[in-house]
Amino acid sequence: MLSRAVTFQFALDPNLEQRILFAKCAGARRFTVNHHLARVKANLDARSTEREMLSECGDPCEPSTASLSWSGFSFITEFNAWKNGESDDSLVNEDGTRGLAWRHELPGDVFECASVDAARALENFSASRRGARRGSSVGFPRFQAKGKVTPSFRLRNRAPSSESPSSQPIRFTDPTHLRLPRYGPVKLFGPTRKVRRMIDAGRFHVYSATLTQRADRWIVSLTGVAAELHQAERSRSNRHAVPVGVDRGIISLCVAADANGVPFDRFEGVKTLKQAHASLKSANQALARTTPGSKGRQRARARLAKTHRKVANTRRHLVHQASKALIERCQVLVVEDLNVAGMVRNRHLARSISDAAMGELSRQLLYKAKWHGVEVRVADRFFPSSKTCSGCGVVKNDLDLSTRTYSCGACGLVIDRDLNAAINLARWQPKEPSEVILLDPTRAVLLSTA
Ligand SMILES: [Zn+2]
Repeated sequence: MLSRAVTFQFALDPNLEQRILFAKCAGARRFTVNHHLARVKANLDARSTEREMLSECGDPCEPSTASLSWSGFSFITEFNAWKNGESDDSLVNEDGTRGLAWRHELPGDVFECASVDAARALENFSASRRGARRGSSVGFPRFQAKGKVTPSFRLRNRAPSSESPSSQPIRFTDPTHLRLPRYGPVKLFGPTRKVRRMIDAGRFHVYSATLTQRADRWIVSLTGVAAELHQAERSRSNRHAVPVGVDRGIISLCVAADANGVPFDRFEGVKTLKQAHASLKSANQALARTTPGSKGRQRARARLAKTHRKVANTRRHLVHQASKALIERCQVLVVEDLNVAGMVRNRHLARSISDAAMGELSRQLLYKAKWHGVEVRVADRFFPSSKTCSGCGVVKNDLDLSTRTYSCGACGLVIDRDLNAAINLARWQPKEPSEVILLDPTRAVLLSTA
């Protein structure tokens, strides 16, 4: 019944006591992850040293040091025993007690979720080493240094969805307060009506709450499962029947046009993003002018972090508006597969802004399409959407990034560059019916041609 993965985010307004507790929890998460990484690293090192010595003696035996289990379950068991003073290597405190002295101050879930996170990071590392993971290679997980990683921790909502909303450990106590286990009600900002109504109607169940500190503000992400959207929402009859191609614009956020060559829509917004980037640049410059370790540097760093948050929020908001409009009005959408690794290296500012926004747009379109019963096709990254003439199909050899208008030498068509690309995308057909294309290594998109 509840099968749709959904996350709701809210900014929190914790009191001083809660703030201190949040900071301690984030510290405990770092501590736990580092504990596991150090254990695994020591074990790997011991085994490799032993293996070297054995090979020098010409002995083909396996090292006698046993390898550790990297599963989240065994990490949880090991850490619980260690922190409760039940392991041989548990800490011994000054008063003679064993175990982690401050363990009772925090919810135990913080340690368990951190153990699971450490196991997941190690799994990514080992999958990459085995060659079972797409994308760039993943090294041994980094130790979590204070001030270097974003303070964050997770708490699970340990109650089944069958239990009533009022007895869930993580729940809204009133329109402006979220109850978290061990913290009591935490004040939050923003409209909560929609999510509260979904919870009360049994249409959303919270799995976990992740708290993250971004530029001095704590954000909670409530992750869970929701009911499918209403049938009327999934099968709107007034949707555009012809496939619509969506191309990233340089001036606009994106340009959409259908396969018949009719412009569909143009989503503006790069100007807002550019302004945001300008303030980011000046905040960066202000930081560079300050002396390391000074009060002024602290202030400049806080200002920069705040600007970063604003830029991210602005972008997300704009992209949500565009993805919502496209999903509500189209039946079939075609987007390009962006080379994410290549995008980051792009130093052309306008291009990099639109690339980043477009990557986010594709991500949103893909999950919203699933919810609303819309088909999203992902054109392969070698499809020459910009270089092809949408009038006669001739492909140009090269097209400068600064050329804003496409003019065809073969048929004489003169058309806006982004519009031309959008039309070509709309006409793109998958070579193999129902072929699986990976836009993002973590999620597969099945293209159905039905
Ligand atoms: Zn042409």
